[in-house]
Amino acid sequence: MLSSLSLLTKAKRSESRCGMRKSSETVGLLKKTAARFGWVGLVICSALGSGDTLSRQAIADPLGSLGLPVSCVLGTECFVQQMPDIDPTPGVLDPLCGLATYQGHDGWDIRLRSLRDIVQDVPVLAVADGRVARMRDGIDDQIYTDAEDKTRVADKECGNGVMIEHASGLSSQYCHLKNGTVLAKSGAHVQKGQRIGAIGSSGYAEFPHVHVSIRLDGKLVEPLTGKSLVDVNAACGDLSGSLFEPSAVRALDRQNAAILEYGLADFVPNLPDLVRKGAPPLAKNGGNPTVAWLWAINVEAGYRFRIKLVGPDETILVDHTTTAFEKRKANYLSYVARKLAISSGRYSLSVEMLNADKSIQSKNGLFIVLE
Ligand SMILES: [Zn+2]
Repeated sequence: MLSSLSLLTKAKRSESRCGMRKSSETVGLLKKTAARFGWVGLVICSALGSGDTLSRQAIADPLGSLGLPVSCVLGTECFVQQMPDIDPTPGVLDPLCGLATYQGHDGWDIRLRSLRDIVQDVPVLAVADGRVARMRDGIDDQIYTDAEDKTRVADKECGNGVMIEHASGLSSQYCHLKNGTVLAKSGAHVQKGQRIGAIGSSGYAEFPHVHVSIRLDGKLVEPLTGKSLVDVNAACGDLSGSLFEPSAVRALDRQNAAILEYGLADFVPNLPDLVRKGAPPLAKNGGNPTVAWLWAINVEAGYRFRIKLVGPDETILVDHTTTAFEKRKANYLSYVARKLAISSGRYSLSVEMLNADKSIQSKNGLFIVLE
């Protein structure tokens, strides 16, 4: 029922699509497949018969028009933690010419802050029209931390996942989806933007996220640049051949260093607990020490943090700037702890990520400690 309904809807929706392919989209990697488009179109149109408008429908060209794989505001509600490694040598390079990747990583990791946040059911979306080739559900969401853990999920590292086959030899794979949210069955047709699950932490996941990898003719590609991950032609920054539609390119082509959380506590938080449980509770009246903290991702070498805490009587309790980091940190907890009992009242906390004297991101808020 779902399949036939989807097919019908698709046919109606794309009534005038055939023959409207934009030549500007056939750049970069697309050139490789451009010649084949006509052939694919011909075969599918004639397979559906009649050569009328209905027959032209099914060929929504996915290349250059992929949508975002998530429905959340990047940089606010969800965050790019890692991109594919486009450097075939032992070095690493992400498609935006940074280091937000690791050796051999082949997809985009879009994360939530903590395991607790998967309760929000943040939708994972099909990047284009297609047919579900494989799916899996039923695997618990949890955080893995070491290699020993990995053996426990052998052959199921992807966790709950979906593989979709699209037109033009393209396929997309989505991993670590939340247990119980993968509803589309194998063989079902899905439309671009249709929800196929929610961001989770199933399989081998060290943080809650969806891992999205894209293949063209079975070979891994980096979708933001449109370049192959298999051929030895590492190139970053040139997004003119992107497989994504322009609005998605704009959303993904962004600064990925981000302050995820910050706050005032009466004990020192730690990263594993932040990933599992989220922010620690606000300090209590009488709590000691006084801890001003922040949690950030993709912190580059040379970056510094400034943490400033002003107490209820306008006293500056903390105003500290770290030294510049020597090494990049994928995840970092920065804090200043003072042996000082917290009293009730309004505390103003400002945190800032700096590159030299340039502000990368700053946040500030009021924290009210009750009597
Ligand atoms: Zn990944």
